[in-house]
Amino acid sequence: MLLHRVLPFAKRLLAETVLPGETVVDATAGNGNDTEFLAKLVGNEGSVIAFDIQQAALDKTADRLGDLHHNVKLILDSHANVDRYVDKPIGGAMFNLGYLPYSEDMSVVTKPESTIEAIHKLLGLVKKGGIITISVYDGHQGGAEERDALLVYVKSLHQSDVHVIRYELLNQRNNPPFLIAIEKVKDFVEVSQV
Ligand code: SAM
Repeated sequence: MLLHRVLPFAKRLLAETVLPGETVVDATAGNGNDTEFLAKLVGNEGSVIAFDIQQAALDKTADRLGDLHHNVKLILDSHANVDRYVDKPIGGAMFNLGYLPYSEDMSVVTKPESTIEAIHKLLGLVKKGGIITISVYDGHQGGAEERDALLVYVKSLHQSDVHVIRYELLNQRNNPPFLIAIEKVKDFVEVSQV
């Protein structure tokens, strides 16, 4: 199958661009599925820096990681503060927006301001040729506002700095997610827009 669903497609893009031994960021650890994927991708010599604002999410991620935990740093803080924890180039980053699935409190959701601030900072950190993937869900409260703000932001990024795509399956029901992927095409991106 070539036309994957959104999450497998995001993983495919990262698998093609992230190298073993690199540092990568999981901006929304949640239940740890993406953190686990990234930890396997970078291997023993690499590292994953994974953020979530809920301790419950980081606990689930730690459980899921098992033996892979040694190359993962779990950070209880907003991804908007990524620059406080990452000071070297990264191979890529992954966002999975919305709320923590299967949690008791689904009112904790990603917000447009912090999501955009995090992407903005990660654009300065990611290597040339690196990808930032953002899976966007808009069916929950606040989801449509986040989607709209995000689309305005990514469309404002300069075409000589980054390439931005939107990928979605058009025949899925019940508010399917879509993917935004940003590829950095310059060594240095002076991202003035937030
Ligand atoms: N990637 C996850 C996985 O593989 O299971 C799913 C992520 S879930 C859809 C979204 C997560 O983002 C929630 O766990 C939520 O707590 C977290 N979140 C919300 N705002 C955040 C922020 N500002 N910084 C970091 N994480 C945040």
